[in-house]
Amino acid sequence: MVKPRSLKYIFYRNLGPALAVPLLLMSLFTIFTAYQNARTQMVANSKRVSTLLSNTIKTSLQDSENRITALAKLLDDGKINSTNLPFVLGQILKSHGSFLDIRVLNDNGIVWAMSPHDEDAIGLDMSRTPQFFDAKKHGVAMWSKAYISAYMNQPTASISVPFSGGVIVANYDFVKLRISVGALAPEKGLTVAILDGAGTILANSDSGKALRRERDSNADEYLALSKKSERLAMFVIDGHEELITVTPISVTGWTLVVAQDMQLVMDPVYRLAYTYSGFAIVFMLLGIALAYHFLSRVFSYFQKLIVNIRRVSDGSYQLDLPHEGIREMEEVEENFYRMSQHIRTREVHIVELNEELQFRLGEAETASRAKSEFLANMSHELRTPLNGALGMLQLLQMCDLNSEQKDYAEIAIRSCKNLTDLLNDILDLSRIEANRMPIILERFHLSDIYTSLEEIFGLAAREKGVDLILEVSPEIPDAQLGDPVRIKQILFNLVGNAVKFTSEGSIVVEAYPLPSKDLDSYRVLFSVSDTGLGIEDSQLENIFEPFTQTEASFTRRFGGAGLGLSIVKRLVELMGGKISIASSLGGGTVVYFCLTFGPVPGQDEKASVLAEVDIEGDLSAVRVLVAEDEQINQMLIEGLLIKQGIHPVCVKDGQEAIAMLESNSFDMVLMDVQMPVMDGMSAIKLIRASGKPYANLPVIALTAYAMGGDKEKFLEAGFSGYISKPLEFEDLLRVLLQHRSQ
Ligand code: ADP
Repeated sequence: MVKPRSLKYIFYRNLGPALAVPLLLMSLFTIFTAYQNARTQMVANSKRVSTLLSNTIKTSLQDSENRITALAKLLDDGKINSTNLPFVLGQILKSHGSFLDIRVLNDNGIVWAMSPHDEDAIGLDMSRTPQFFDAKKHGVAMWSKAYISAYMNQPTASISVPFSGGVIVANYDFVKLRISVGALAPEKGLTVAILDGAGTILANSDSGKALRRERDSNADEYLALSKKSERLAMFVIDGHEELITVTPISVTGWTLVVAQDMQLVMDPVYRLAYTYSGFAIVFMLLGIALAYHFLSRVFSYFQKLIVNIRRVSDGSYQLDLPHEGIREMEEVEENFYRMSQHIRTREVHIVELNEELQFRLGEAETASRAKSEFLANMSHELRTPLNGALGMLQLLQMCDLNSEQKDYAEIAIRSCKNLTDLLNDILDLSRIEANRMPIILERFHLSDIYTSLEEIFGLAAREKGVDLILEVSPEIPDAQLGDPVRIKQILFNLVGNAVKFTSEGSIVVEAYPLPSKDLDSYRVLFSVSDTGLGIEDSQLENIFEPFTQTEASFTRRFGGAGLGLSIVKRLVELMGGKISIASSLGGGTVVYFCLTFGPVPGQDEKASVLAEVDIEGDLSAVRVLVAEDEQINQMLIEGLLIKQGIHPVCVKDGQEAIAMLESNSFDMVLMDVQMPVMDGMSAIKLIRASGKPYANLPVIALTAYAMGGDKEKFLEAGFSGYISKPLEFEDLLRVLLQHRSQ
């Protein structure tokens, strides 16, 4: 998830670039334009100076050449002779002003006339000099290389023009050229130089360089550049960037170099850059300051709003709404205030409703409890006479009856048993709903449960032609810790339904291990599947609700009150498990439920003692005392015992029982727990604490509430064992046989 940022952070992170980037781009653009303009201007300027200067130099040189050529022609034509030659030479020198001197050499290269006149030079042999030699050889006007005139001690170059009687050599005055070059390069940062073909500086606006006869350090590059079409390039000279323009001077083979210092272009550009940057920073700061001022108000408004929202969410409605004088914010405030008032009103309303709801819930719970208690009491009260009727019918069955009477007794017993089952179901559901159904954990064997399933349903299934298959995965240990009574109840209900609704095929009960959260406990998935009628989809939804049954015709056909599955579901949930059902009409039914069993504690085999006792044996000599207040029950127990040859003594309460024990000797006592005057619990305590011979007699509790946990309670109080009501003949027999010898 993206980490939330504060508004301030987002604002500054975005505002900085938002202000700085356009300003920066604008400045860069302006500076770049200024630079381009300045550069274009400078290039144009350099070109202009170069052209102007090269034209001037060319004109000056051409003019000099023309004059000497004209002189040669005059000499050729004989219009000038040795007499007037010095005068003419003097005139040329004076009028032209670009010559240092003019010499006239005869055919042998001997100076025979010169101006300005120098006596020492007359007669000088110059026949070996290139000036004489080249002119003579080529027969045309020739410019010499530049050199320092020993005579004048300054750089010069000479023009030699042949004529019929020899050669005229005129030394060109670079001082003049230099002056004109200097004059033409007045602009600041502009340097002008003339290089000869070898790169030697002939003239330079920086005057000293020519005199030193230096060779320009970049001469080779300049000369190379002069041969290109674009004679313009950037050079770095003495750490300065210079724009160099070169122009060849064709007459003499010299090169004119104009250098423009780039610093001069860059200076104004830099100035502009500084100015713009300054402005940009000022604008940016100003922008941030203004935005800060505005946003501080917004931030503080938000902070106050957040405080208020927090207050409302904490249930406090003491709001301190800021008035920022900003319309939108005030609107938010107003609406927020209204919203908080609404919430408050609703909250008050909800509290009232809640109180009422709690009150009603209490009422409903009380009513439900009352209903459950009523049902429990009713079913208990109904069960007592029913048990009586059942007991009497069982006794009746033991009498000598003809076959018709036997049938009637059997039907009456079956009806009573059905009614008992129904009452038991109602009692269980009421107990569960009143939260009075405890789950008692004890060690048990899954195989015992499976055995009783086989015992109870095996025969009924086979009679219908249905196989009852019971399977447990071998990975599941047989000994488990759980509530065997409830597990049995669940399985009995489900298998009972399966047997009831299946007429062919099979019923399979399976148990598989499931992965469990901890190593000690066991999760087991049980499934009870059948190939019976199945249930319609529409019915499945509510199948676990009490009193739900599928089609009415089925109900009539199969009986039942629709309580079984709802009890099963509640029991599974009470034990922390889950249940589900899958079924289709005609396709059979599968009910799954999973249960978690706790870790199995140390070995305790006490639980199955009852089942192991043989129920065959002679009991006629056993002397039994029966304490039971309820007359029918008393008759029933007495009847059952008499059938075994036992003639018991019957009393109505605990007190009478103790009195009887004092005066007679008995082998065993069967004692009801709930009795008037003195109940069973008080009586057993007195018996055990009496110190009399009867103190250690086996005393068996008779109780209508055979709930989990009761057994421990009775054994703890001192009873030797217990039998739950309604009395089953076989249970009674087992207890008698087990305890007679003790
Ligand atoms: P009842 O005591 O009436 O059997 P249950 O709650 O056990 O009540 O079952 C409710 C209804 O669900 C039954 O009446 C029957 O219609 C349907 N039912 C339950 N188990 C099965 C089954 N194995 N096959 C078909 N129908 C079933």
